[in-house]
Amino acid sequence: MDEQAFSGMVYGVVLNDRASLAALGEALTHDPYKAPPKAPVLYIKPANTRFSAKVGAGGTAVLPAGAAGVEIGATLGLVIGRTASKVGAADAWAHVDGVTVVADLSLPHESYYRPAIREKCFDASCALGSKVVPVTDISTLVARTLVDGVMVAERRFDDLVRDVPQLLAEVTAFMTLCAGDMLLVGVPWRGPQARVGSTVAVEVDGVERIEFKLASAAAHMPQRGPATVFALGLNYADHARELAFKAPDKPLVFLKGGNTVVGDKAKTVRPADATYMHYECELAVRIGKAAKGVKRADAMDHVEAYAVANDYAIRDYLENYYRPNLKVKNRDGCTPIGSWVPAVQVADYKNLALRTNVNGKQTQDGSTRDMIFDIPFLIEYLSEFMTLQPGDIILTGTPEGLADVKAGDEVITEIEGIGRLTNYIVNE
Ligand code: CA
Repeated sequence: MDEQAFSGMVYGVVLNDRASLAALGEALTHDPYKAPPKAPVLYIKPANTRFSAKVGAGGTAVLPAGAAGVEIGATLGLVIGRTASKVGAADAWAHVDGVTVVADLSLPHESYYRPAIREKCFDASCALGSKVVPVTDISTLVARTLVDGVMVAERRFDDLVRDVPQLLAEVTAFMTLCAGDMLLVGVPWRGPQARVGSTVAVEVDGVERIEFKLASAAAHMPQRGPATVFALGLNYADHARELAFKAPDKPLVFLKGGNTVVGDKAKTVRPADATYMHYECELAVRIGKAAKGVKRADAMDHVEAYAVANDYAIRDYLENYYRPNLKVKNRDGCTPIGSWVPAVQVADYKNLALRTNVNGKQTQDGSTRDMIFDIPFLIEYLSEFMTLQPGDIILTGTPEGLADVKAGDEVITEIEGIGRLTNYIVNE
C-alpha cells in the first residue's frame, strides 16, 4: 500500500505504556487530574504533519523556529481496514489491515495534560512508513531509533497499558474509525531527542525501516488529508468566569475529527450514562487560502466563510478543562455545523450576537466581542507553527449560559447575520 492511501485521520495516544506511567509516578496524582487518566489520552496528528519517510524519498521534518531538537516517538500505526464502531476486543483485529512504522515527533514539553498543539502538530511532525504489514500481535515487535546511524532507543510493544484489542474497543466505544484512518499505539512519554541536521531512522524488523532528515527550514508541502477542525477552550471571558476560571493567557486549542461533524437538523446522541451534556453555540470560521506565518493585519484575507456551530460536550467524561479528552469532545455527531456564509457578506465578525434556544427558551446570549482571542489573533497564532489549509475550520469558543440537554430536546443555536442551526437530542 502506498503512503497516499493514508487519507484519513491519524489519532495517537500518550501514556499507553507502563514504563511511561511509572516514569511519571507521583506526578499523576497532582492537579488537575489528581489520579491517572481514566480514558485513553488521545490526540490528533492533522494533515499538515504527515510526510512520507520511505527510505530514499528524501523526507524532511521541519522544526519550528527556535527549536533546537525534537523528541522522536517511535511507534506503530494501526491502519483501519473497515469501519470500526463499538467493536468488541475479541473482534478488534478484524478491523485492522495491518501496521505501519511511524515516527511521531514532539517538541519537549513538561505537562501531559496541557493541550500540546504547538508541540505535536507543527508541519512535518509525523513521519509515515509506506508499508502496511498484516499482523495480529505486536507484542513481539521491537522498534529501534537511530540518529545518524547510532542506535539511541529500543522499545518493545509488550508493555502497553491498553493492548490493541482493548484500545480499539475503548476508542470506538465513542468515536467511529473509518477505513484509511490510523491509530498510533502510543509513544513513550520521553523519547530520544535529535537535533537539526541529523538523519533519523526507525526500524521494525518484519515491517519497515523509515528515514528522514531534521531541518530548520524547508519548503514543506503538507500531505493531503482531511480538513483540520480546531476548537477553543474558554475563549469567552464570561464563560471562563462562569466556570470560575482565570482567562487563559494563550489559546487553549484542541482538534476534532471529521466523525464529529453533522449538519442542520441532525440528531445527536446523549450517552445513556451521561448526567450533564451541554451545547455550545460557536462561530465557525473556514479558511479559504493556505496560511503559514500570517500576521494579524493580513489574517482576515484567509477567511472564506462563517457558519453557526454547536460544539456539544459531555461533562461527565471531563477530567480537566485544559485538555478535554476525546471522549468529551470527539464523539460521533456531536459537532453540528450549519450552512456556510461567504465572509464578504458578514459585516462585522467582531460584533455578532450568539444565542441558544432549548425547546423555545433562550439559554445562551452572548457576543463575539467577548472573545478573549479574536479571529486574527488565532490565525496568526496557529499559522506561526502549522500551515492552515483551505477547508480547515476554527470553532472559536462559546459564551456563558450552558445547561444540560436531554433526549427529545430541540436545540437551536443562532448567530446574527449567519443563520440558525437546529439539532435534536436523542437517546442511544
Ligand atoms: Ca467549544
